[in-house]
Amino acid sequence: MTIPILEPGSILGVLGGGQLGAMFAAVARRMGYHVAVWDPDPDAPAHQLAAYSYTTPFSNPTSRERFASIVHAVTLEWENVPVELCGGLEARCRMTPSSAVLRTLQDRIEQKQFLSSRLLSVPSFAAVESAAQLNLAVDQLGLPVVCKTAKSGYDGKGQWILRHPSDVKSVERILEQAESGQRWIVEQFIPFVRELSVLVVRNESGECRVYPVVENQHEQGILRDTLVPASVSPTVAEQAEALSTQAVVALQGVGVFCVELFQTEDGNLLINEIAPRPHNSGHYTLDVCTVSQFEQQVRVTCGLPLGETRLLSPAVMVNVIGEEVRSVISAEGCSALYSTSGAALHLYGKPMIRPGRKMGHVTFTAPQRNMAIATAQKFIATLRKPV
Ligand code: AMP
Repeated sequence: MTIPILEPGSILGVLGGGQLGAMFAAVARRMGYHVAVWDPDPDAPAHQLAAYSYTTPFSNPTSRERFASIVHAVTLEWENVPVELCGGLEARCRMTPSSAVLRTLQDRIEQKQFLSSRLLSVPSFAAVESAAQLNLAVDQLGLPVVCKTAKSGYDGKGQWILRHPSDVKSVERILEQAESGQRWIVEQFIPFVRELSVLVVRNESGECRVYPVVENQHEQGILRDTLVPASVSPTVAEQAEALSTQAVVALQGVGVFCVELFQTEDGNLLINEIAPRPHNSGHYTLDVCTVSQFEQQVRVTCGLPLGETRLLSPAVMVNVIGEEVRSVISAEGCSALYSTSGAALHLYGKPMIRPGRKMGHVTFTAPQRNMAIATAQKFIATLRKPV
């Protein structure tokens, strides 16, 4: 199947204007495209790089018409945009990922049901609509379990680990007080040895490119750092890449996808979650891959040939979260980073610091993985010091 190529000079729409949208816009501009950003938050970082900015709610009919009439293709950087908005856009231009894929992935229950129906490994789970059903799920799965809201929720928000019967009681109360119609997924708690993720790029012709498997560490549900390549055996790396590709192919997904995985002690891999967009754990690709995840997103959006995913150097990406940014942007912090060989600082230009908010990241590269890890660990220690 030959897909018409959108030539430089075309206007690419992006739904959502966070740092992922900003990095997409920066790369798209370098490649000669104009970007129209739609994010209701006027302070969203991608607006600063946009040729056209929309800040109304996604439901605004005038903006829907204007946005649809100027863009030549649309992509997204946030999976919680309204599915019907995407459906309307795809009737008028190329929309990647599709609204159908978005519908499946937006809801954790539908996502896990889809994956298990395709025999792709996921933690055992149950769908829950009430406190009574929570108890049934706990009986069925056995403690500990993780209870997550079916929709929205990110960075560990709307998520509880239930280890003891008293935790079940507390979450029961939360469920009882929730709005009617809310649903949750209850999953077996996986005592993983590692969290891994794999970026898979797939175009409209079904061609795929896979980035090397990376290893992620979270703190309080938020990604702290990503190590690439992951410290797994070549067999596990191959299995992770194969499982992630199978999942994106099963979805018939077109775009950039991040498949998050748990590696268990016995070497098994389970899919935790799939994001239909570039991912925080793929930021390293900007600094150490021949083609970044954002350039791949531009390429898929425009029908351009996919790029290679070659890793040029080991790296560790460290997120700068909330108040930590103060030490990084101080004269002392900046000069320390700019004096560190192999450190690349990315700041997102968010005007408000909030706890848990991702304010920037630093990629540390080195000829050997252990050197990159040592430099990154030193940096993380400075972030933990009170300013
Ligand atoms: P999620 O929002 O589903 O990506 O979950 C955020 C984090 O919670 C994951 O990166 C894991 O560290 C942890 N987590 C989520 N689900 C499970 C699970 N079933 N078992 C163990 N840890 C989990």
